[in-house]
Amino acid sequence: MHKLSLKQLSDSLKARQFSSRELTQHFLDRIGRHDPALNAYVTVTAERALRQADAADARLAAGGTGVLTGIPLAQKDIFCTLGVKTSCGSRMLDRFVAPYDATIVEKLDGAGMVMLGKANMDEFAMGSSNETSWYGPVKNPWDLERVPGGSSGGSVAAVAAGLAPVATATDTGGSIRQPAALTNLTGIKPTYGRVSRYGMIAFASSLDQAGVVAHSAEDAALVLQAMAGFDPRDSTSVERPVDDYTAALGAPLRGLRIGLPKEYFAEGLDAGVRGCIEAAVKVFESLGATVKEVSLPNAPLSVPTYYVVAPAEASSNLARFDGVRYGHRTEGAKTLQELYERSRGEGFGAEVQRRIMVGTYVLSHGYYDAYYLKAQKVRRLIYDDFRRAFAEVDLVLGPTAQNVAFKLGDKTDDPVAMYLNDIYTIAANLAGIPAMSLPCGFHQDLPVGMQLMGNFFDEARMLNAAHQYQQATDFHKRWPKGFA
Ligand code: GLN
Repeated sequence: MHKLSLKQLSDSLKARQFSSRELTQHFLDRIGRHDPALNAYVTVTAERALRQADAADARLAAGGTGVLTGIPLAQKDIFCTLGVKTSCGSRMLDRFVAPYDATIVEKLDGAGMVMLGKANMDEFAMGSSNETSWYGPVKNPWDLERVPGGSSGGSVAAVAAGLAPVATATDTGGSIRQPAALTNLTGIKPTYGRVSRYGMIAFASSLDQAGVVAHSAEDAALVLQAMAGFDPRDSTSVERPVDDYTAALGAPLRGLRIGLPKEYFAEGLDAGVRGCIEAAVKVFESLGATVKEVSLPNAPLSVPTYYVVAPAEASSNLARFDGVRYGHRTEGAKTLQELYERSRGEGFGAEVQRRIMVGTYVLSHGYYDAYYLKAQKVRRLIYDDFRRAFAEVDLVLGPTAQNVAFKLGDKTDDPVAMYLNDIYTIAANLAGIPAMSLPCGFHQDLPVGMQLMGNFFDEARMLNAAHQYQQATDFHKRWPKGFA
């Protein structure tokens, strides 16, 4: 059952070939069997899941249900879930039980989906390897000695290993796309403002976007459809109708204009990864797309720009965790100052503390103009690059990451090496455009992902291109040994 597509699951549930309870139990059993090796889940909500499954079965028996009714999923532990621990991968929130549901949780529950549990993640979504989680690292199902990528490492490990058919994730600088690439999944980060951020714990508010990780573009389209849309509770969500992503999947690609940014094929790209991307470009050509080189001249500035903007916003967002209102509170502090310092010192891990310090510094009087303001100006240049590119092409295609999955511990002592994992993904967040990663081959027996970037609100076109590519190839159907 865990190898069926969402469409197949939906059809089988409707035909009563198995019930949502049986399906849910199947995934709970697999979690019990495989999660000790992977550490993909922070919390498994078995009882809640079976209750939701029974409700879905009642709706299925009555007929008239949506396509997602009765299908299980994992929620990244960054989304607030009423009555269920919401940790954000941090000791700070280890005992935090959310008093309300995030909008996307409400929407997916409303669509009849069954939440299996909360997926592990880098602490406050800061990381590219899932090694900063208070709950320990997540392992890559393709090689248990390697990282699954981050920060949505639990979400991708759960889906790649068949411990959930699909999962939610978030992407501030690459956290949907990079882990999807490292685990052979399809992950989409929509346009900034397309999916509500209400109830999604904030890291860098002007960059954070929620999305999906799945086995295929078709699966991703189905779930994104149910998540997307205006939310009056999120002032950055955009009031604009949602396209029909599934209906768009079948369109032929004849005439699609694809741009290859030359900066994405420069030094640093592994030759094996490059080979896979070049082969994928040929597939798109054979499907009728035209391909040309484009330039994103400011793309090489995205990592330094991001590491000013994101920590600045994080330092402000994370100021709310003070040991007073909620979250970790130290024992026996004698003064208010001591309470703040010790609660935050104990509650936050090293990477989060580093970001808060950098962010506070770049925002401080005397440095604001030199760093934060400057970074905002470069951010505008990066956005302008994409505007120019999308005047010439429909989609931009390149690698998602420079390399395949690396070994656990390989980059933990070198923050800058870790930050460079997102060298190809960050620009889309800075510009606000949609972007996705999809499987395009294997190098050293490990998955390689290619990235598609689209113009604002062009998710349907990206998903269409990805789906057509997946009709012509079968990389996305490969399954890690030991988890079949
Ligand atoms: N790896 C990047 C960071 O550490 C991006 C993380 C993300 O997208 N949440 O900030």
